[in-house]
Formats: sequence, structure tokens, C-alpha cells
Amino acid sequence: MSGIDFDCRACAATHLGTDGTRDRPWPVLSFAVPDLVLRLAPHELRDAEITDDLCWIERPEGAEQYVRVSMHVPIRDDPERRMEYSPWVSLAEEDVLDILDHLGDEAYRTVYPGRLASALPGYETAGPVSVLVHSRGDLRPLIGPDPTNESPLGRDLLGGITREEAELRIRAFLLR
Ligand SMILES: [Zn+2]
Repeated sequence: MSGIDFDCRACAATHLGTDGTRDRPWPVLSFAVPDLVLRLAPHELRDAEITDDLCWIERPEGAEQYVRVSMHVPIRDDPERRMEYSPWVSLAEEDVLDILDHLGDEAYRTVYPGRLASALPGYETAGPVSVLVHSRGDLRPLIGPDPTNESPLGRDLLGGITREEAELRIRAFLLR
């Protein structure tokens, strides 16, 4: 099986033949802003503050907060490989403030309940998807497996997907 070639945004190089292993990771399926931001009118965008990791939108009905996180989907029967996403999640205001309070606190660990705010290839479901977001010190927070989550995403975070399925999703994402 041949690997996946892609132009890397992180280091501006072209990576050839990536196979999802630690040495030759596949591209991260990454989203620049929460999906909702793409639907905001210009005057609404004026009230949004957006960085690489945080999005804060003041709306008449109250503020909405989004955080960019990491998510690893295991490859079934193949612990060498994993598929990585970097989606946005919406979190409660107090939880985002908790994250900001603990920036640089390498030892701090906690879990926040959130909802996916990016439509992920492979998980374009109708309703909102609940996720558990784990803080990881200086690393970007991580969506962890949740045995009570019976959505397709919840099942895959626990049980994994096939390598073929991962490669299909990544190739489709690169063609967008
Ligand atoms: Zn790179």
C-alpha cells in the first residue's frame, strides 16, 4: 500500500509516503475556525475574537466560547498508527476561563464536557456530538474516549477504524 503525500502547513515541506506511524505521521485534519464562524455576517464577525486556539463570540443571547483541541482515532489492530484531527469544541465559559487560568501549569489535569463545533469527515451527523475534553498541561487539550458515548465517533475513539478508512478520509480531506 502506498502512503499519502501532502504539503505540510506546519513546516511548509511536502511529506511523501506518510503512513500514520510516529515517524511518518499522516496530515492532521485541522480546521481554521469553528464551523459557525463561516456563517457569521460581517457585523457579527466584528464581535468575534479568534486565535489559533480560542474563539470568543459575543452574541445578543450571550457569549459563545470555542477551543481548538486534538483528537486521536486509533487504527484497529494497529497500535503503530493513528489518525489525528484538530477540531473545535464549544465549552462552557467557566471551563474556558479554567483553561486560561492554568496556561503554563504543566501538572494540571481535568476534564471538560464539550460539543464538537467542526463537522468532521467520517462523522457528519445530524445532531451535536458530545465529547470529553482532557486538559494536558502545555499541550493542546485532547478529546478522550468516553465509554458512555454511543455515537459513531464515540465508538471509533474506543475501538478504532481501519487503516483503509483512515486513508479514505484523509485523501478526501486533502482534496477539499
Ligand atoms: Zn511538516
